[in-house]
Amino acid sequence: MTGLTSIKNIGFIGLGIMGQSMAGHLLAAGYQVNVYNRTKSKADGLVAKGATWFNTPGEVAAESSLIITMVGFPSDVEEVYFGENGIIASANKAILIDMTTSSPSLARKIAAEASKKGLAFLDAPVSGGDIGARDAKLTIMVGGEQADFEHVLPILQKLGTSIVLQGGVGMGQHTKMCNQIVIASTIMGVAEGLSYAKKIGLDPAVVLQSIGGGAASGFQLNVLGAKMIVGDYAPGFYVEHFIKDLKIALAEAEQMQLHLPGLALAKSLFDKMTDLGLQRNGTQGIFQIYLD
Ligand code: NAP
Repeated sequence: MTGLTSIKNIGFIGLGIMGQSMAGHLLAAGYQVNVYNRTKSKADGLVAKGATWFNTPGEVAAESSLIITMVGFPSDVEEVYFGENGIIASANKAILIDMTTSSPSLARKIAAEASKKGLAFLDAPVSGGDIGARDAKLTIMVGGEQADFEHVLPILQKLGTSIVLQGGVGMGQHTKMCNQIVIASTIMGVAEGLSYAKKIGLDPAVVLQSIGGGAASGFQLNVLGAKMIVGDYAPGFYVEHFIKDLKIALAEAEQMQLHLPGLALAKSLFDKMTDLGLQRNGTQGIFQIYLD
């Protein structure tokens, strides 16, 4: 805990599919929001609504008492925290929250470096997709100190509806891996069920009317399955980000000698999508692997 009493200005770094909506909710809630993104034009809409642009993560950090990051890959997280003009070097008496899906070990490394400077750190990856971000209904899985969690909870409540402290630093990321492991086998099942429907001559849309209300229902079937049926592979969640998550989960499982064959199979199918140049599809694009 940094001894902070109130959070007035929030730094937000990473304004992609998820960060764009999330930063917008904080702005709408009345906070001063300081923003930075690799591609500057993605900040234009937020700046027009009152956000303040800074030229580096470090400049955002220097002006903010809470700094949230929502970038793409662990290498991006490394860069914004530890790179030239990074957050750690410039933040002052701040709480840092990484909401990127990243590795638990990197979360622990950031926390250790942050604490040397009297900064607090929480890992808080999310689930709920682009729709959850847009509707401020994310599930937020947090790792860190209880006091820091309580301090930022009112702000996280502007972004999500299920916000749970899972344990110490890194446990938010481990919880997110549980989520991705479930999704890995589920989305394969959705693609397989719908390709079976097509092959036997059923109308997959009508099949979805039946099975979408039964025990198989859920986001992967009802939302992404519906997109598979109409051939809409536009990204809500990029295949290349999912592969990043599957790699982290497989590496963690290997370290604990946990055998997860469904996860390994899903990784091989999504790798196949990369071979076909489909890594910037949404994850529902896996359906193409099953089409004749
Ligand atoms: P995205 O659209 O690619 O957004 C990431 C943003 O971070 C991009 O705007 C990117 O800049 C920016 N960025 C990357 N490296 C940066 C750096 N070094 N400095 C400044 N900005 C940097 O991805 P997303 O879908 O929002 O996902 C963000 C994270 O949330 C990922 O880890 C993903 O796995 C996770 N996630 C996504 C979903 C989903 O459904 N989309 C759901 C849950 C979790 P550019 O604009 O230049 O590319």
